[in-house]
Amino acid sequence: MTHVVGDPTRFRADALDGFAAAYGRYVARVEGASGFVRSAAPREGRVSLVVGGGSGHYPSYAGLVGPGLAQGCVLGDVFTSPSAAQVHRIGRAADQGGGLILAFGNYAGDRLNFAIAAERLAAEGIDSRVVYVTDDVASAPPAEADSRRGIAGTFTVYKVGGAAADRGDSLAEVERLMRAANAATFSFGVAFAGCTLPGQSEPLFTVPAGTLELGLGIHGEPGIGESTILPAEELAAKLVDAVLAERPAGAGPRAAVLVNGLGATKYEELFGLNSHVARLLAAAGVESVLPEVGELVTSLDMAGCSLSVTWLDRELEECWRAPAATAAFHRAATDEVRTVVTVPLAGLGAEVGAGSADGGEAASPASAESLAAAATARAMLAAMLDALVENEAELGRLDAVAGDGDHGMGMVRGMRAAVAAATPEGAGVGTTLARAGDAFADAAGGTSGILWGLILSTVGAELGDAEAVDGPRFAAAIGAAAEAVARIGGAKPGDKTLLDALIPFAECLAAEVESGATAADAWRAAAATAADAAAATADWQARIGRARPLGARGVGTPDPGATSLALMAAAAAAPLAGDPGAELFPQRDKE
Ligand code: ADP
Ligand code: MG
Repeated sequence: MTHVVGDPTRFRADALDGFAAAYGRYVARVEGASGFVRSAAPREGRVSLVVGGGSGHYPSYAGLVGPGLAQGCVLGDVFTSPSAAQVHRIGRAADQGGGLILAFGNYAGDRLNFAIAAERLAAEGIDSRVVYVTDDVASAPPAEADSRRGIAGTFTVYKVGGAAADRGDSLAEVERLMRAANAATFSFGVAFAGCTLPGQSEPLFTVPAGTLELGLGIHGEPGIGESTILPAEELAAKLVDAVLAERPAGAGPRAAVLVNGLGATKYEELFGLNSHVARLLAAAGVESVLPEVGELVTSLDMAGCSLSVTWLDRELEECWRAPAATAAFHRAATDEVRTVVTVPLAGLGAEVGAGSADGGEAASPASAESLAAAATARAMLAAMLDALVENEAELGRLDAVAGDGDHGMGMVRGMRAAVAAATPEGAGVGTTLARAGDAFADAAGGTSGILWGLILSTVGAELGDAEAVDGPRFAAAIGAAAEAVARIGGAKPGDKTLLDALIPFAECLAAEVESGATAADAWRAAAATAADAAAATADWQARIGRARPLGARGVGTPDPGATSLALMAAAAAAPLAGDPGAELFPQRDKE
């Protein structure tokens, strides 16, 4: 659905105006015509490739005009062929004296309008050949390949033609290469949701929720079947299987590969899909040459994607690899066919290895007391993780009020990694918590990732691996963590952050320990204080962090970071009271 509301009858015209306003470096307007030609000076005697079709498919077609690709483009109304008169005008303007290739996807209206325009142009002395693309394997069986629709594979065929025309090939030669490219191109697509015409409130067609449509056309033409939504890997296999099924007998291993989004499918989703597509194609012996993942042929806001493969021989590969520069597509002369490599990080690798092996070469063995404290710490971390998992949705909800809703997710991710990193037996409490903190920060990301990483590693650094952990040392370590959070995070008490629970927690713990309480009792009292403090933040406005701009909206809702801290503190009390917990403050507890 369009959200930028204009006069729907001016959709095409407004889009052309705005495109022209931005991309004069690639295109020039043509008087009285709905389309563009290249703004670069014509080159006498060259063949000109003119592409076109209905609007609503950008980057097809305006985004493909420029050196190395189309010389001109002609656009009809949304999903509607341009008229023969429009094609004729752009054809006249695009001609450089070498004749024209008029190229488009194979749709009835385009076939008629482009054919009539070609006749008129020829009658005026401009040799004009029609090449239509038929790559969609779902639209007709192989025996009727000539009646197939053109979808994303049109891009590859245009790219081949544009390269051949620009290097000075004859009209007959450009036509031959484009027909060869078309014969070597196979696409298969799926749709997850329909598209909506500008100004309409209902989509052109719908795909039932939880399903996907196989082989649907780019204007909603019926597909060949329906499926439940598939995991990425299975979807990739469907696309790859459908396309490889038509691999021509004599095809070599090299291919131009496109994973194309139809308009409402995120680039990151397409990359996720491509992680499987690339693997499956490689396993099938396909050597992908300068593959493309992105939007090249869209259908307004249709959710869906397709895979196109063009089998390359030497001459097609040369055209596919040739440079191009258009508003939507760039290929540099220096682009090389490469598979991705992993850059080694000198030094860092060795450090990580040493650290994760046994705590680093400098670490001396942990004392028995520290080993006991580490076991307690692990149990406490595990209990904190359970509490986070149980409250993940609620913490997300609190964060969504004035923040971005990721707090529960991030904390669970971080604590899960912390618990996993804290497992090695034989490490003292200092090393255990340092590892847990690093893992938390790395996995959680975000503000609470860095701050909780800091809390765990600071406590670890304060406790070390040698000395026994008594009450005062432990309380001091928590106090140091609160100071570190204040120093690094820059928040002040009352700013409505986790600090507003952490400081009262640390102070209460220290006071209880000072007055001789047992570890478990001191912790329980501190946890209760933290819970009250966290609840009290509900009355405040956030003065720092992501929630600050919407601080007023958050009044009435407690701070998510303070809330998660209080929940974790409460959950960690149980292991302290239990058997291993008694070991954490051995001296003080035995008094
Ligand atoms: P993000 O804000 O990156 O999305 P989270 O949603 O995981 O991170 O965490 C939000 C919490 O982080 C807030 O509720 C608040 O408690 C805490 N926070 C934000 N900024 C600070 C800061 N400068 N100091 C301490 N805590 C902070
Ligand atoms: Mg957040």
